[in-house]
Amino acid sequence: MGLGGVNALRAKGEDREHVTDAISFIRELRQASDLASLPVGRDVVVIGGGMTAVDAAVQSKLLGAENVTMVYRRGSERMGASRHEQDHATSSGVRIICNAAPVAIHGNGAVAEIEFCYTQDGPDGLTLTGDRFRLKADQVFRAIGQQLQDAPDGLALEGGKIAVTGPGRTGLPDVWAGGDCASGGDDLTVTAVAEGRDAAEDIDARLTGRPAEIPG
Ligand SMILES: Cc1cc2nc3c(=O)[nH]c(=O)nc-3n(C[C@H](O)[C@H](O)[C@H](O)COP(=O)(O)OP(=O)(O)OC[C@H]3O[C@@H](n4cnc5c(N)ncnc54)[C@H](O)[C@@H]3O)c2cc1C
Repeated sequence: MGLGGVNALRAKGEDREHVTDAISFIRELRQASDLASLPVGRDVVVIGGGMTAVDAAVQSKLLGAENVTMVYRRGSERMGASRHEQDHATSSGVRIICNAAPVAIHGNGAVAEIEFCYTQDGPDGLTLTGDRFRLKADQVFRAIGQQLQDAPDGLALEGGKIAVTGPGRTGLPDVWAGGDCASGGDDLTVTAVAEGRDAAEDIDARLTGRPAEIPG
C-alpha cells in the first residue's frame, strides 16, 4: 500500500496558495498528455533532499521555471538523493542550499517569499542557528518524506512502518507486507518487487504446504 501520506512542513503560512506536495506535482506531470499546458512557477523552491525533491526540481526547470532552488535542512552527505542525483540536479540548473530549514511562508494569499533559518547538526540533534534568509518564490513544493496512511488495524508498527520479519510476515498470521510500507526496506522499486516476490513464495508455501523457495 506504499506511503500515501505526506509530511507537513510545520512552517507558518504553509496553507498559502501554490505551496503543494511534490508528489502531486510529479503525479500530474506523469499523467499529463500535454506538458506545455502544465503550469509551473517562475521562482520555484523545493523543500527536501531526496529523490522526490530532485525529481520535482529538475522537472520544474525542464518545464521552464527560471530559478529553481532545493533547500535541505542537513548537510549534503545526509541527503536521501545520491551524489549522482545531486549532480544531475545541479547540472540541470538547480541550485542546492543545505543546512537550512523553512520557518515561514510569506505572501498575500499566494506565496511570495519563503523564510529559512540556518541549521546546525550537533549532539542534541538539529537546531536552528538564528541566522535567517529569504528566497523569492511563487511556487513551493514540499518533498520532505511520506508516511503510512491508514495502516490496517492490528498491525504492529516499527519506525512508522508495518513491522515485518523474514519474507514480509507481519504480526497477523494471514497478512504480509512489503515495499515502502514495510519496515527495513530502502524505499526503492527493486526492493518492493523483490519483497513482493518473497512474500508470494511464502504465501504459496503456507497455502500449499510446500517449502518456500526464497533466494538467500
Ligand atoms: C517522485 C519519486 C521518485 C522516485 N524515484 C525512484 C527511482 O528513481 N528509483 C527507485 O527505485 N525508486 C524511486 N522511488 C521510490 C519508488 O517509487 C517506491 O519505492 C516504490 O514505488 C514502492 O513500491 P510499493 O509497491 O511499495 O508502493 P507504491 O508504488 O506506492 O504502490 C502502492 C499502491 O497501493 C495503493 N494503495 C494504498 N492503499 C491502498 C489500500 N488500502 N487498498 C488498495 N490499494 C492501496 C496505492 O494507491 C498505490 O497504487 C521514487 C518515489 C517517488 C515518490
